[in-house]
Amino acid sequence: MISKNNLFQVNLQFGRGSLNKTGEEIKAYGDNALIVPAKNSMKRLGFLDKLIEILESEKINSTVFEKVEQNPTVEEVDEGIKLARDNNCNLIIGIGGGSSIDTAKGIAIGATHFNEDISTIWDFVTIDEKRGAQITNKILPTVAITSTSGTGSHVTPYSVITNKKTHEKPGIYSPYIVPTLSIVDINIVSSMPKELTAVTGFDALCHAMESFVAIGEHPISDLYALKSVELISENLDKAYNNGDDINARTNMALADTLAGLAISTSRSVLPHSMAHSISGHYPMVQHGMALACITLQVMKFNLESNDSKITVEKYAKIAELFGKKGTDKKELALKSIEAILEIQEKIGIQKTLSDLPIDKGKIEIMTNDAFRIMKSGIERNPRKAEKSDVIKIYEESF
Ligand code: NDP
Ligand code: MN
Repeated sequence: MISKNNLFQVNLQFGRGSLNKTGEEIKAYGDNALIVPAKNSMKRLGFLDKLIEILESEKINSTVFEKVEQNPTVEEVDEGIKLARDNNCNLIIGIGGGSSIDTAKGIAIGATHFNEDISTIWDFVTIDEKRGAQITNKILPTVAITSTSGTGSHVTPYSVITNKKTHEKPGIYSPYIVPTLSIVDINIVSSMPKELTAVTGFDALCHAMESFVAIGEHPISDLYALKSVELISENLDKAYNNGDDINARTNMALADTLAGLAISTSRSVLPHSMAHSISGHYPMVQHGMALACITLQVMKFNLESNDSKITVEKYAKIAELFGKKGTDKKELALKSIEAILEIQEKIGIQKTLSDLPIDKGKIEIMTNDAFRIMKSGIERNPRKAEKSDVIKIYEESF
């Protein structure tokens, strides 16, 4: 039985040099763009100038908003919204990692939905009893040009924004924020340095694994999730060790895209709920690194109780995709933990929370936040987790 599905409708331009082919299509969406690049890298690497040149050749005017840092904040998005409104922009283009694309999505919402009652992107967030303002098809068209292979944000209906004051890091959800056009140019993602390749690739792996083990039956997204795990098991360390390996880069970009589609339907589970609390309180911690520190402990927790045959079988399948073998399903399932540790070692992210500037005293509040802000991920986790369990998992991740 397939419950609610997002139908995977994405307008995707994928391949080496694909950015060069998109000017004419972009022109159909608007002629006055706000460009939201990753703060320094896109200019430094020449991709920002290349994009502006493509837009100019199609007579598309552009303004650049160069303020996006990792884990984008309410203030940054609100500033971008103001700039888009002041300049009457009718198109928003994110070029960068998940942070730039999520900011572009947030700006596209705010630019057309602000009114006397709605004056910040935070008004669209649903937390506790507060319902987010409605997002409609009035949203500006968005073009997402991804420069990392991890978040899947170029194909997802989520925009993740951090509130610096309250340390909350929720995802805004709307089917209207799936980008109008999504560009994956292998020349751009191939510029990622090693460490970024590792942490973003691990994020994609978590999307694939978490959506696969999430409670519920989702046979269509499982196809995407499993293919993604397979591609990552075969290519992440290659892309990490040799950034010029175009085949590995292409496969990682594909894995990222497939995993993004998988979470669009089946969502993420406990590791993401916990990781958002970490980066909410510690914005200097990269999303993928937060995941790297807690995922193994969550997997152990999920597999400790072996009462769910389905869960055991799912983790056994993941282990197999990493080349593990065994006839006893439970043993094989446990080998998935080994496999994830091995890949972390290969790409230099076998880290714990002790390696990060994180205060153990924050565990309780991070736990409460995970339950308040990312509750649906906890509810879909294959093993029911109480607050005391989550506290223990954080503790064991140190
Ligand atoms: P970021 O977008 O945060 O990028 C991290 C840094 O990497 C940037 O600040 C940029 O540095 C640099 N960078 C980006 N691309 C390149 C490149 N090709 N070459 C060199 N440097 C580069 O990283 P992620 O892609 O991991 O995005 C993480 C964010 O996405 C988090 O906020 C996370 O929560 C969110 N997310 C969103 C999802 C969604 O569905 N919307 C799903 C999962 C995560 P510089 O400043 O120097 O330019
Ligand atoms: Mn993620």
